[in-house]
Amino acid sequence: TYPGDLATALVAFDATVYLGNRQVAVDDFFLLPGATPDREHAIAPGEVITAISIPASPAAQRSTYLKIRDRQSYEFAAASAAVGIEFEADGRTIKDLRVALGGVATKPWRARAVEEALKGKVLQSDTVRRASLLAIEGALDHGANHYKIELAPRVVARAILKVGETA
Ligand SMILES: Cc1cc2nc3c(=O)[nH]c(=O)nc-3n(C[C@H](O)[C@H](O)[C@H](O)COP(=O)(O)OP(=O)(O)OC[C@H]3O[C@@H](n4cnc5c(N)ncnc54)[C@H](O)[C@@H]3O)c2cc1C
Repeated sequence: TYPGDLATALVAFDATVYLGNRQVAVDDFFLLPGATPDREHAIAPGEVITAISIPASPAAQRSTYLKIRDRQSYEFAAASAAVGIEFEADGRTIKDLRVALGGVATKPWRARAVEEALKGKVLQSDTVRRASLLAIEGALDHGANHYKIELAPRVVARAILKVGETA
């Protein structure tokens, strides 16, 4: 599973990776295994990352990164979530939501189904917990990863509710 922390947040907030003159959306920068599992990213031979840009957004201004791990330091995420929320003027209705997961897939995983399910909804614990289950839609249980399928939606829900507390 993809082990990094930073890229999970970059995927949540639609960053762009600059490879010299070439630009790649960060979600396309990390590659699924497919027929080339040896290629984890879109850097071509000779290219280096020269810059990363993150578009300004109200969702990024109210955001958090929640990382669950086996021990407190020098440990990759068992599951993590980068979450940002923009609320309507009432401070309770979700206008924009960004959710990306780390530690659960071969690349940082944008949970668009969770985002779409909660946009326009009032932030409430049971609604958030139900929608967070969509984060693992289609996940394959290989036995060893069973705990991640249990854990990931809880991490997503906790992160969303944590951001909600700051509204
Ligand atoms: C015990 C341990 C625990 C860790 N835990 C975590 C963790 O919890 N979360 C987390 O996010 N990371 C974790 N890491 C990873 C660590 O953060 C990475 O090693 C670090 O981010 C890479 O930085 P570096 O300076 O070591 O990289 P470097 O060794 O300088 O580079 C890493 C790779 O990137 C390439 N590279 C460097 N710069 C560029 C560039 N501009 N363009 C293209 N390619 C480039 C290098 O060629 C190399 O292949 C952990 C590492 C260890 C050893």
